[in-house]
Amino acid sequence: MLRDIDLNEISDGKLYGNNDMTKADCGGCKGCCDCCKGMGTSIVLDPLDVHRLCVYLNRTFYELMEDAIELNVVDGVILPNLKMTDKDDACVFLNDKGRCSIHSHRPGICRLFPLGRFYENHSFQYFLQVHECTKKDRTKVKVRKWIGIPDIKSYEKYILDWHDYLKELTGQILSPGGKQDIKEIGMHVLQSFYVQPYDMEKDFYEQFYERLQMSTAR
Ligand code: SF4
Ligand code: SF4
Repeated sequence: MLRDIDLNEISDGKLYGNNDMTKADCGGCKGCCDCCKGMGTSIVLDPLDVHRLCVYLNRTFYELMEDAIELNVVDGVILPNLKMTDKDDACVFLNDKGRCSIHSHRPGICRLFPLGRFYENHSFQYFLQVHECTKKDRTKVKVRKWIGIPDIKSYEKYILDWHDYLKELTGQILSPGGKQDIKEIGMHVLQSFYVQPYDMEKDFYEQFYERLQMSTAR
């Protein structure tokens, strides 16, 4: 999501790499589930998030659309996000004990929280959001351990390339006189990267880059 932010207002003023220590560890949250409620449409899902959900829950993209995810326009591009329930405005995956029922397969944004990503010069670093997590006595943890995704190098490269691809699309859609059709682009992105299943037996990133290459060559 493209945002003009003053890092000094929302963070501790530092930027972190994946080997740095930062005060993000909320110690298992211990009864708190504040950041799993009232999140609106902000938990936007990337293709790996959806792939992992489909595999873990043994559901297709369309089956997830029935009750777990929904579509919204983010910076001009149609993307899926986690759905909040009508009843208590909580994430559909929050169980009745206030715990995440898909913890091992939770999306990237949930893994990061309360960290965020700051993109600059075809790269990104992490920052610690100081006003978001309600737990005050957080302890230090290494960023890569906190995120907990295997092969962090490939993951970060993928995140950056996905971000750049979306930014390019946003530029095409929102630029003055932009001739790109928002609906057509949206359907292409959804179909190419989310709806069409990834082969579980093959490396996700290889398949993603094949699709990215085909999309950018259009
Ligand atoms: S607000 Fe902090 S302590 Fe509460 S659930 Fe979220 S990360 Fe855990
Ligand atoms: S997926 Fe899990 S961690 Fe993420 S908002 Fe839902 S319940 Fe919370």
